[in-house]
Amino acid sequence: MSSGPEKDAALVIRTIRHGESSRIATLFTRNHGKVAVIAKGARRAKSGSTGVIEIPNLVEAVIYFKASRSVQTLGQASIIRSFPAIKRDLVLTGYASAVLELMNLSFTDAEPNPEILDTAIETLDSLETCSGSPRVNLWMFQLALFRAIGFNLDPYGCPVCGREKAMVGTRNMFWLDSGAICCSNCRPSNGACIPVSGESVSLLRNFVNGSDRILQRMKPSQSARREITDLLERFLKTHHSGIRKMPAMKMLESFENLPETPK
Ligand SMILES: [Zn+2]
Repeated sequence: MSSGPEKDAALVIRTIRHGESSRIATLFTRNHGKVAVIAKGARRAKSGSTGVIEIPNLVEAVIYFKASRSVQTLGQASIIRSFPAIKRDLVLTGYASAVLELMNLSFTDAEPNPEILDTAIETLDSLETCSGSPRVNLWMFQLALFRAIGFNLDPYGCPVCGREKAMVGTRNMFWLDSGAICCSNCRPSNGACIPVSGESVSLLRNFVNGSDRILQRMKPSQSARREITDLLERFLKTHHSGIRKMPAMKMLESFENLPETPK
């Protein structure tokens, strides 16, 4: 890590109060990945940076790096995007918080990943403009995150019989270790598996195809929504031992019964 001030685009993914008027924030920066910074006076009304260091803002930040410190010092910061529609809406805030939580938990400090930063910004844009179902937008983000951290979910080939396209029945098995789905009549001999419905397998295949336009038109049943949400969470936890609790993700469960934001 170099020394001295550097200007970087960053998503504010987490903030906590610090003392009377300061705030410690976790930024996901383009060039340095996750960086903890202290924003002095960030909560003081007269401060120039009031409201800037706030989730889920995209900011341009000047950061004073010092390798010996675990928390860096934030200099000037200005807003690039502030996502006002998300902030006004409880449900959208919930989905945005889940995206930020995943960014925070999936990466260690100073591990840059500009691609996933761009995907996170695109996901926030989709939430902000209510383009498509917030749930589908979050699923698409999770899939992109899996690819970014190097493990793939492949709902096609059956690892048991080697068939290129696993046969779908009412109940297939999803292999948490390999991210593969077995044919409905093939049973994996070992490893942790969870059952998935045929509806969920079709949805997952649409994901991986990237045909989110088809996905956005599909109306998954509530049981498929729960199943995929659970599957994606367990898949992440299987491959990322550091992740245990996901409070923002948990919070979304309470939205499951609410009607989705009108398009
Ligand atoms: Zn098979």
